[in-house]
Amino acid sequence: MSSPYFYRDSWVEVDLQSIKRNIEQLKRILPNGKKIFAVVKANAYGHGDIQVAEAALSSGVYGLAVAILDEAIKLRDAGIKAPILVMGWVRPEDVSVAIEKNIILTTFQKEWVKTAKQYVNGTLSLHVKVDTGMGRLGVRSKNELEELLMELNDKKFHIDGIFTHFATADEDNMTYYDKQKEKFNEFLNVLEQYVAHPLIVHSSNSAASIRFPNQMQDAVRFGISMYGLYPSPYVKEEKPIPLSPAFSLHSKLIHVKKLSKGESVSYGCTYTASEDEWVGTVPLGYADGWVRKFQGSTVLIHGKRMAIIGRICMDQFMVKLDNAYDIGTKVTLIGRQEEEEISVDEVADRLETINYEIPCQISYRVPRVYKENDQVVSRHNYLLC
Ligand SMILES: *Cc1c(COP(=O)(O)O)cnc(C)c1O
Repeated sequence: MSSPYFYRDSWVEVDLQSIKRNIEQLKRILPNGKKIFAVVKANAYGHGDIQVAEAALSSGVYGLAVAILDEAIKLRDAGIKAPILVMGWVRPEDVSVAIEKNIILTTFQKEWVKTAKQYVNGTLSLHVKVDTGMGRLGVRSKNELEELLMELNDKKFHIDGIFTHFATADEDNMTYYDKQKEKFNEFLNVLEQYVAHPLIVHSSNSAASIRFPNQMQDAVRFGISMYGLYPSPYVKEEKPIPLSPAFSLHSKLIHVKKLSKGESVSYGCTYTASEDEWVGTVPLGYADGWVRKFQGSTVLIHGKRMAIIGRICMDQFMVKLDNAYDIGTKVTLIGRQEEEEISVDEVADRLETINYEIPCQISYRVPRVYKENDQVVSRHNYLLC
């Protein structure tokens, strides 16, 4: 592949080997026969949905889980044959698309089922969602579940699974988690009276899957830790399995100059050189997801930390250099250079947010480069495809 597929000097690297390794680590601790849904919503947490889905499927995951129907359609239209579950809301009038594309939807409202029935031509596969304490989606009482199941008792519907979602599986205190588990079991007892065929029962996100692998039902939903990140600082400390981060972000110096003492940098002149000093320009800015809050943080050049100075612009920012580096010198914003590393967690701390948000916020303007065993295997440019 000689064509570069992109024409800028900033890119995300996704190590597909790490994704596979993280799935292998989960499989090592899960009891035999448990299914894994690879959670690839939000463009696989910013890593690239199709590429991650294919890597995960080649590692033996059972299916894919996304948040919205459009994400599922994109994967199906890319030729992916595995089961795809939409975990979020889909309008009842859109169910025919799901049937046509063989996509499994989530249901939790009796009225939704009534309306959807009019649009079903064929059989719609569904997972029932129960709310055991997350307070987001799902039926909340046994009675509500019974009414939903009665409404679903129709050849137009195939109940393929039932699931719930934990609110605190990544925390030290297990009280709420245990309560949710207990409530889920009560729902499952009701279900048994209405559905004779086996269902895929699942409740666990990354946190629950890696911390309590022996408590899993039939399947788990593996999201953040498939990408090599721990769901919380608590789980990171507990470190139930070793994880390899897949995501890194890089750029290059595209301009280098010497500022004289007293000269300023960027909008508002918030930085003024206190001595003669070298400054480099990096072609990445807040429109790429490298937001203004990163002013004052550091990037890696030649394995050393260099400070971001002045306001971050839409397309560029400046760094203070300890030397006159060549144009084209690699700059790492997230990832490793020599002995030094800037982790997604560090960057998330800087923004006072969680690691989940960081790869998600690196925008469509930044091309993704896929590697396996240090070799580039493919590239994706969202602008030119
Ligand atoms: C996003 C999501 C997951 C994945 O959670 P992680 O913490 O990333 O593993 C699982 N289940 C549901 C319902 C989700 O929305």
